[in-house]
Amino acid sequence: MIEFNNVNKTYENGTRALHNVNLCIEQGEFVFIVGDSGAGKTTLTKLLICEERLSGGTLKVNGYNLSKIPRRKIPFLRRTIGMVFQDFRLLPNMTAAENVSFAMHVIGEPKKLIQSRVKRFMGLVGLSDKMDSFPRELSGGEKQRVALARALVNRPSVIIADEPTGNIDPAMSYEMMKLLLHINEVEKMTIVVITHQLDLVNTFNKRVITIRDGAVVSDKIGGTYDAIK
Ligand code: ADP
Repeated sequence: MIEFNNVNKTYENGTRALHNVNLCIEQGEFVFIVGDSGAGKTTLTKLLICEERLSGGTLKVNGYNLSKIPRRKIPFLRRTIGMVFQDFRLLPNMTAAENVSFAMHVIGEPKKLIQSRVKRFMGLVGLSDKMDSFPRELSGGEKQRVALARALVNRPSVIIADEPTGNIDPAMSYEMMKLLLHINEVEKMTIVVITHQLDLVNTFNKRVITIRDGAVVSDKIGGTYDAIK
């Protein structure tokens, strides 16, 4: 569960990026976060993974209180969150399967478990036949699905996808969104999608949180993204 209570974030240069944000995202929800450039979406994400610290209020993420979390506990918090980025961030000299398994190797999971999870999640994203392909041999949509499998492999409670369809074509974007919805249903993971693509947001009848100038200006289910206009 993610709970923002009167969260404020002011950067060192005095920019107030978020003010009095109150939000609760329950385990298993599917949520879109929308807003213009500069609205505060990235800041919000950075607070969730403790890349930035909040300036005021309280933020609870998957049982961690981020206003108080000690530095040594941050890696454990981050294991509860899978991130997917617009620019994929795959390692170019590793195969798709190696990219996916890397995060499990890092935390010392046993080989057998790694193999079975990689197989399962590459299958879930529809890429069982691309395990040995390098990123340069994959399309944008395929790269993004590898990035999704990588985010899923440690079985986080939450997936945060930051503009996941920003670099892929419209047909693939739709497929990617359907895949995220499918994962939300079958894996019961919370999914937070940050996007600019209003057409996509409006296609799916899901909760839409709109941020403008660092504040939540609309939060509704089946949202047609209109508050921003
Ligand atoms: P979005 O992701 O919605 O485009 P951001 O969270 O990146 O918005 O930015 C929100 C506001 O905070 C903007 O005014 C931006 O210029 C400012 N900002 C973002 N990062 C920093 C930073 N590291 N230092 C100072 N100001 C920042």
